[in-house]
Amino acid sequence: MSNESREQILSDFQDCTGLENVEECIAILQQHEWSLMDAIQAVHEGIGGINDNESTVPVQHTTNYSTSSIVNNTTNQNISNNKRQSDSNEFDDTDQPRIIKTIPGNQRIAIGTHPTAENTSGTDANSFLTEEQRLSKQKPMIHQVSQKTIGKFSARINQMTSEQLDFYFSFTIISGDMDIRRIRLKHYYKYELTFQCKNPLTMIEQQFEYIAVVDFEATCEDQQDNYQNEIIEFPIVLINVQQQTIVDKFQSYCRPIINPILSKFCTDLTGIEQHQVDSAPTFVEVLHNVETWLNERKLLLPANKHTFAFATDGPWDFTKFLQLQCQLSSIPYPQWATEWIDLRKEFAHFYSVKRCGINKMLAKLGLTFDGRPHSGIDDATNIARIGLELLKDGCILSFNDSIHSSDPKSTPRNNNNYDDSIVFKN
Ligand code: AMP
Ligand code: MG
Repeated sequence: MSNESREQILSDFQDCTGLENVEECIAILQQHEWSLMDAIQAVHEGIGGINDNESTVPVQHTTNYSTSSIVNNTTNQNISNNKRQSDSNEFDDTDQPRIIKTIPGNQRIAIGTHPTAENTSGTDANSFLTEEQRLSKQKPMIHQVSQKTIGKFSARINQMTSEQLDFYFSFTIISGDMDIRRIRLKHYYKYELTFQCKNPLTMIEQQFEYIAVVDFEATCEDQQDNYQNEIIEFPIVLINVQQQTIVDKFQSYCRPIINPILSKFCTDLTGIEQHQVDSAPTFVEVLHNVETWLNERKLLLPANKHTFAFATDGPWDFTKFLQLQCQLSSIPYPQWATEWIDLRKEFAHFYSVKRCGINKMLAKLGLTFDGRPHSGIDDATNIARIGLELLKDGCILSFNDSIHSSDPKSTPRNNNNYDDSIVFKN
């Protein structure tokens, strides 16, 4: 490790602990093989002889000494040995508490296994802990450092140059573009400092057991206003929230009625060919198959059903395509599609970035599109991958849009070809 790196760690260590004595700081850091977090934790556990009462520990940037000579004498520890092996990207993008908030009357599901809790694996809702049990199990989870310390470290990360950030990323398994990495790093340390465990995100509780990502493809023409888009592909990619994996997929083409012949533009865009829709059931039949599929997985039926939500990229799948299709097919709008998780919206909010499309979101996360863009099932799979990253980063996915509140202005292209009056299915 370079002297510069050690100086950086020393300075951050002093910022975060308030310790001024350089020799003492270096001794503690050496003891912890220059792992900043381990050293800070040791201090806050009392090993360093101070507590976290920062009002009595004035923080001072010690500028009138040279650390080089002292740092030079340190053993040449291999920092990679110190790499954190947690698979976590622990953080959130705001200082809002996102950890183990138990909302009365609201069933929330613990992801993974609490170190002090029973094993909650499996998908049977009954196997999850009761709220009371959870609360008692959570008692050991106390704040180990003050918000002020965390704030200081976050401010420090905000000021870091890309080189400095890269240096810290080498301690963690954090990927993504600069914006996302900065936020991931901040929150990684925030949670680690707060909860003193290697993967604190495993204790975040989620609202839904399953998330079903949907991405419709529809008939279309190039730049044609008032076009009546009929749904021609209905894909669903099912995420098990606790397992943080894709566990199932549904896919069906639908035969359009009003414009049964696909335009060249549509086939070029979506990859869907004429023979695929010719041999497909109508939308009404497909909707019935979808509901059967959901029922078989105990997602729709009222008795003992799992908690689940649909998720989309933007509001259009439901506000535009499904609403119009239900009108064209003269069927009521399904109740289960009245509220959903708009992952594009949540992504922008959680990572504090501008709203952007699938490719950009993936790029920000350090990922690339897998499959064929504008194929419904491939789009849905990639949107699900974005959802999984959000879950892994500790984002609590809950409804953030509904058919009643969705902003019609955000509906792009051909959006004035149906009126807003919809009949809801009971
Ligand atoms: P996407 O999920 O981006 O593949 O888009 C869903 C549907 O929106 C497509 O199946 C088309 O019906 C329509 N669509 C997407 N892009 C365009 C475009 N550039 N022009 C016209 N329609 C489009
Ligand atoms: Mg699509």
